[in-house]
Amino acid sequence: PHLESCDRMHTVCPMRCGAEFEKRFQQKHRDEDCPKRQVICQFCELSMLAETESEHLDACPKFPVPCPNKCSKKEVTRETLQEHLDSDCLQQSQPCPFANYGCAHTGKKQELPAHLKENQITHMELLCVAVKRSEEARNEKERLAAELTKKLAGIERRIACLEKLYGPQLVWRIDSYQERLAEAKSGKKTTLFSPPFLTHRYGYKLILSTCLYGDGQGRGEYMSVFLSICKSENDPLLIWPFGHRVTIWLLDQCEDVKARRHISYSLKPNTCKENRPFLGRPIGERNASFGAVKFVRLETLNTLDYIKDDSMFLKVQVDCEALVSL
Ligand SMILES: [Zn+2]
Ligand SMILES: [Zn+2]
Ligand SMILES: [Zn+2]
Ligand SMILES: [Zn+2]
Ligand SMILES: [Zn+2]
Repeated sequence: PHLESCDRMHTVCPMRCGAEFEKRFQQKHRDEDCPKRQVICQFCELSMLAETESEHLDACPKFPVPCPNKCSKKEVTRETLQEHLDSDCLQQSQPCPFANYGCAHTGKKQELPAHLKENQITHMELLCVAVKRSEEARNEKERLAAELTKKLAGIERRIACLEKLYGPQLVWRIDSYQERLAEAKSGKKTTLFSPPFLTHRYGYKLILSTCLYGDGQGRGEYMSVFLSICKSENDPLLIWPFGHRVTIWLLDQCEDVKARRHISYSLKPNTCKENRPFLGRPIGERNASFGAVKFVRLETLNTLDYIKDDSMFLKVQVDCEALVSL
């Protein structure tokens, strides 16, 4: 029938682009007009739908672009433009290679050889100044480092010194324990005295004493420990009455340091008026002593390593935080 072959009959695009045309134009539409036809980018040879071509051309890396410096080079594309400007565009302005050393010149690449030639001496001078400056900076750094090292060594010495000063003020070893205990028990010699010691440099002079078989109410059951303040040439400079926290330890001599179970007694002297005979500035050689009558039970002394090789250690630490420094 005529209708099937009539080329004036209207038809729609088989690519579904939405166009409607007389059948005789179908080939032209398919090859030239249809937005859904395949086209190939003439620059990068990528295949795409015709309707996306103009968008592609705006981004195509092979698309030719003019050099913004209007130089004579023609083969610059979007993707090679930056490289062209950076390396071979003779019209591109760039700073002098001596810019870091202070040359303010900026000029076209082709003018650079002339600039370098004309300014050899200036450039040399700039270099000299820069080298001298960096040498000075290095010397200054070395000087500072040496100074710091020296200071640090001094600080380390002082810390070591302070650690000794502020470590325990007394570690007192009592030898021949059994013999001395027997003497205390018999009443021949009930009290032992430590050598006098200072709470800190130019500080209070103290003495530790112990009754190995106990004193007063503790006798026969406890070992007692006492402190007493001795008269010293520093006394006029110190604050009275004595009010610093004192801790007395019986040290466990167990070889395994972590397993040691020291026994301690700590007291913060009460500086009330009634305690003046103990804590006030000494009038005689030595104040009345204060401490713990029931410091440790006698049977406890036979446990662990409180007594080893017939010796015991007592330690005293005075809290010096509140001390005034002279
Ligand atoms: Zn017809
Ligand atoms: Zn179409
Ligand atoms: Zn392309
Ligand atoms: Zn250029
Ligand atoms: Zn220069």
